[in-house]
Amino acid sequence: MGLFKSKAVVTPLSETDRKFLLEWSVPYSEMTPAIKAEFEDQVAHFLAGRRITGVGFSGALEREDRLLVAASACTLSAGWPGFRWTDVSEVLLYPDDFDRDFQIADEDGGATAELSGEAHPWGTVILSLPSLEDSFEDPHDGYHVGYHEFAHVLDRDTASSVGPSGDGGLPSNITGKFADLMGRALEKTRAALALEQSPLDPYGLESPAELWAVAVEGFFELSSALADAHPDLHQLLDLYFNQRPRN
Ligand SMILES: [Zn+2]
Repeated sequence: MGLFKSKAVVTPLSETDRKFLLEWSVPYSEMTPAIKAEFEDQVAHFLAGRRITGVGFSGALEREDRLLVAASACTLSAGWPGFRWTDVSEVLLYPDDFDRDFQIADEDGGATAELSGEAHPWGTVILSLPSLEDSFEDPHDGYHVGYHEFAHVLDRDTASSVGPSGDGGLPSNITGKFADLMGRALEKTRAALALEQSPLDPYGLESPAELWAVAVEGFFELSSALADAHPDLHQLLDLYFNQRPRN
């Protein structure tokens, strides 16, 4: 009856895991020691607690594949002590190369059902392994399918309940004045993006939810360009992700 809800035993990352992540993840390699330790703990919990399923691979998933998935999520949350990705029930990893927001054909093979933002109410995140590897291999191009999809998970309360036109666009763990400020900064950013005056990917013009996800990609991959183009948004994201020591 849940009285003896056991505490999951979580195996810490091995030296091999850490070495692999240091080679692959620029954000991790640049974290302060305290944030690094939190990141490692969160990655270990993610691997222990979230199901990561390979779909259509000939063999089992490699440890490295799982590490890249967990690192994508925990790069976003490393500044939030004790954060767990409990909204994610499963990550489906495909061997095919596809972009952000995978669309799966419906049973008639006709129209497609978008399974990005709309997948998250069921807690499923869908990623292409080749795209995920590309995302880590080029850490400064503003494109990272992993950060993008997990940014949608943070936006669940709003993005999940709207249609393709998309409302949402703000993470569910901010409220009040901070949320208002973030909303305004994103709106200013959207206007600039529409005028091609932004380093962010124009895919963000699709909907507020996509703008949020693209802004998160930009924050981790194009930090100084984002700070130059949208200083208010950059400052708010910096506060939100909380990964820099403050005085
Ligand atoms: Zn998206």
